[in-house]
Amino acid sequence: MNTNAFNHPRPIPLDQVRIEKGFWEERQTVNRETTIPAIYNKMEETGRIKAWTLDPSRKPPSYHSVVHMFWDSDTGKWLESVAYSLTTHPDEALQKIADELIDMIEKAQFEDGYLNTYFPVLEPENQWKNLRDWHEMYNAGHLIEGAVAYFQATGKRKMLDVLSRFADHIDERFGPDEGKKRGYPGHPELELALVKLYRETGEKRYLDLATYFVDERGQDPNYFDIEAAERGDNPEDFWAQTYNYCQAHEPIRDQDTATGHAVRACYLYAGVADVALENGDEELLNVLRNLWADLTQHQMYVTGGLGPAHSNEGFTFAYDMPTETAYAETCAAISLAFWGHRMFHLDPDSRYIDIMERAIYNGSLSGVSVEGDTFFYANPLASYPNVDPYSKWSGINTDEHYRRSEWFYCPCCPPNLSRLVSSIGEYSYSQLGERVYAHLYHDNSVSLDLNGQAVELTQVTQYPWDGTVQFTVKADSPTAFELALRIPDWCHTYGVSINGEAQSLTPEKGYVVIAREWVSGDVVELTLAMPVERVLPHPNVRQAAGQVALQRGPLVYCLEGVDNGERLANVVIPESSDLTAHLEADLFKGVVVITGEALRIEPQREDESLYRHRSQEGLSEESFTFKAIPYYLWANREPGEMRVWVRSS
Ligand code: ZN
Repeated sequence: MNTNAFNHPRPIPLDQVRIEKGFWEERQTVNRETTIPAIYNKMEETGRIKAWTLDPSRKPPSYHSVVHMFWDSDTGKWLESVAYSLTTHPDEALQKIADELIDMIEKAQFEDGYLNTYFPVLEPENQWKNLRDWHEMYNAGHLIEGAVAYFQATGKRKMLDVLSRFADHIDERFGPDEGKKRGYPGHPELELALVKLYRETGEKRYLDLATYFVDERGQDPNYFDIEAAERGDNPEDFWAQTYNYCQAHEPIRDQDTATGHAVRACYLYAGVADVALENGDEELLNVLRNLWADLTQHQMYVTGGLGPAHSNEGFTFAYDMPTETAYAETCAAISLAFWGHRMFHLDPDSRYIDIMERAIYNGSLSGVSVEGDTFFYANPLASYPNVDPYSKWSGINTDEHYRRSEWFYCPCCPPNLSRLVSSIGEYSYSQLGERVYAHLYHDNSVSLDLNGQAVELTQVTQYPWDGTVQFTVKADSPTAFELALRIPDWCHTYGVSINGEAQSLTPEKGYVVIAREWVSGDVVELTLAMPVERVLPHPNVRQAAGQVALQRGPLVYCLEGVDNGERLANVVIPESSDLTAHLEADLFKGVVVITGEALRIEPQREDESLYRHRSQEGLSEESFTFKAIPYYLWANREPGEMRVWVRSS
């Protein structure tokens, strides 16, 4: 149901986009065949599936030591990923597993609609007592997202009905009305989920509740203080010390700086964007533009990673970009992609999709191995032995390198990546009336409905390895529509031809728009020049000063020890070095690598002294041909050092 009151583009739904070969087909196959089963197995192994039985024998201490208050969110995200996968690849066996899980979830629901695997068994007296920390609303959000996706994929209502009842339960208890508590989620997520639920069911109360959550957040007196006092806690004892941590330090309409926990921040901003779009709220749009500008101009890694600090899993201050210890949680890059996608639909401009693409192809995809069964939580921009940015400092003096893990104490990232990969088709196109926006370039076909006229658009491309993209139109009769092609921010030279004839087109808000009456067999070719680029950091980014990152097309590259030897900090890529790209067919089934001449410049140390005077010591200089691979592929071969930013001269 398209309920938004204003005229905005909408994403073209997943079931209209078929991905049958190419970059994303490979990733979706791995996701379907390996990642989705691997996550389910881990959920089963760790008790997350059985938890839905609400078995009282699982009471502490045996259970409590490992159980989390946010286990239910893993179920929600896994179901959501399964739903997207079923949409494009029906699979009866997988659907049966999901249906059985949904049966368990339905049985776990209380008469009053409450749904949670933690509190009823372990702390029944504490339900809804600590919205700040205890994730009941966060869990609800992920379960709702899973429910909406599962209904859309299968037409089965059970999960949607269960979660609608849970949303009703929340709506009955929280809000501005007399007798309700003025609470809101400590970990945002429910806001955007309620808008999804509203769009699916048409029930306006869900949009109103999301709007209330957005506007109540950070109001004085702060609800988190009130509930802390009701629990008998001193609000000043909040473990995170500041409500900036959860973006509740001031009302959203007063905020202009991205702050606190990075995933909470972007989930919140994504929810605010949904609310702004549905309500036609210009003031919120301007708030979001300011937050977007702050985040992307001051606080974002070149990979689209967010949140340098382990301490708050989030933001610190402008231009603070440590590399080895970068937390840059996989979920944070994913949540930036979610927010960017929503910003485009609220404020159609390619700049949001450019960042979305950066976050997806770099800081998100790095979170999963090529094999699809191990994952990163933190995504540093340099890696050395003994440095584990996820668990801070572990393995001291073991010479171990940071590697992906099968699972985590808090495994939020694996199912988040899985749902992103399985739904990538939904990020590829949008439509507003007769205008069709193409955002992401990859092999696929999309079925369009243009005023009742069916049109099929097929993309053929080697993107992201090559910048040539061919669109072919198939239509039963001539059909007028506008094809809007994104010219990515990384591209300085491009060409467009129609049926072999070059066109002179100027982008409008980042898209070249081709308006014509199309006939079957029309071919549009977009050519995006993809030279190797040296990326320079802003002069205020001291951790990358004097260094360059390499980028080609949407991909940020890195040097790994396995290709370049160790002590990568001493490697210098001279300005004069000619950088070339070529396809290496044997590497991960075909990857474009970057090579060029580099120098390894090091002190000629004869002893182990930590510091020596330059006057007493010479420098060695070795010239070699370096090889850089896409950042998202790092740590898939033998362990070693890694660097995105490399010294330049
Ligand atoms: Zn995560």
